[in-house]
Amino acid sequence: MSSDIDSILRSPKAYLWAHKAIEAMEAHRVWPTALNFELWLHYVAAKDSEVAAQINTVLQSGAPFTDQVGEQIAAQHLPAAKLSGEILDAGKSLSEELDSVHRAIESARETSEAYGQQLATASQSFEEQDSDAVRAMVENLSVATRKVREENQALESQLADTTDELGRLREHLEQVRRDAMTDALTNLSNRKAFDETLDRTCAQAEARGEPAVLAVVDIDHFKVFNDTWGHQTGDQVIRYVASVIGRVAEGARFAARYGGEEFAVIFPGEKTSVALAALERAREEISSRILKRRSTNEDLGAITISTGIAEYKPGDTPAALLERADGALYASKRSGRNRTSLADMGSETTRAA
Ligand code: GH3
Ligand code: MG
Ligand code: MG
Repeated sequence: MSSDIDSILRSPKAYLWAHKAIEAMEAHRVWPTALNFELWLHYVAAKDSEVAAQINTVLQSGAPFTDQVGEQIAAQHLPAAKLSGEILDAGKSLSEELDSVHRAIESARETSEAYGQQLATASQSFEEQDSDAVRAMVENLSVATRKVREENQALESQLADTTDELGRLREHLEQVRRDAMTDALTNLSNRKAFDETLDRTCAQAEARGEPAVLAVVDIDHFKVFNDTWGHQTGDQVIRYVASVIGRVAEGARFAARYGGEEFAVIFPGEKTSVALAALERAREEISSRILKRRSTNEDLGAITISTGIAEYKPGDTPAALLERADGALYASKRSGRNRTSLADMGSETTRAA
């Protein structure tokens, strides 16, 4: 559970919030599972959280709040919980693997110690030149040698198994890490990955004195689109826009689905003019395509996007850069949508012909 929800559950109003969450779940016919309870606590007690916003979006769309919807929201906005569970499991398998390697090494060590003792006794028998004893020793030694060889083979195969298992665990953890950073609907990076990349890009721009650009993109009048064509068709459109925005992010660039119908592209080491040209191409591509509903081939018309672009200034925090890009986005919205605006450039905007 995220720490703010944790503190709500330990505050004087804890039971009140818990009751409210359960009432809200009941009102919306949501199963009171542990995961749903956590999500709906956000809905009642942390109204400005991402989780609450996502639940609102689902409720507004009229779509039922299924377990799958809840899991999707949790995967996107509560990645830490999932991640820590997976890491605990991985840690447990890892320590089991290490235990079994330890046992195998211990057994091989005991065998080779016994072998060493037999060798010592054998050399003593040779010195005493007691031929019966020598014969008996040679027999014992060949038995002991075979035993050591078998133990070593067992140890080798145990180590090979462990190496394979460690490789699988590493791959699994890598997959979990990727999932925690990926938006399930579009396969673009998610908000968490965006925040990290923006932090890193700003730190790098500051340290190296390099430029960097941030673009934020928002689909125009998307609420109307959803209301007209339904949430599922809306989701298809989000995927389509994501695919176009994803193509902007070639090379070192980075694209994310940053909110419901909002995207961001980071351009490390690049200038505003390059970002502007790339986003303008994306805007033209999107606005010139007549969308069709997949199932019925019905004509849905075209949609448009608005974009705001801001370039990193020395001393900028990631939040300040984002705020300027957002300001430019809202300038695009205010001046009619379907356009790209630059921050710090007054009224300079570009729009479709
Ligand atoms: P504007 O041009 O000012 O951006 O208008 P808008 O209607 O797009 O703006 P607003 O941000 O108010 O609404 C965004 C809408 O996007 C609300 C919600 O219906 C929709 N939305 C957000 N996330 C999703 C999603 O995951 N799937 C679908 N289908 N719709 C979503
Ligand atoms: Mg929006
Ligand atoms: Mg919008």
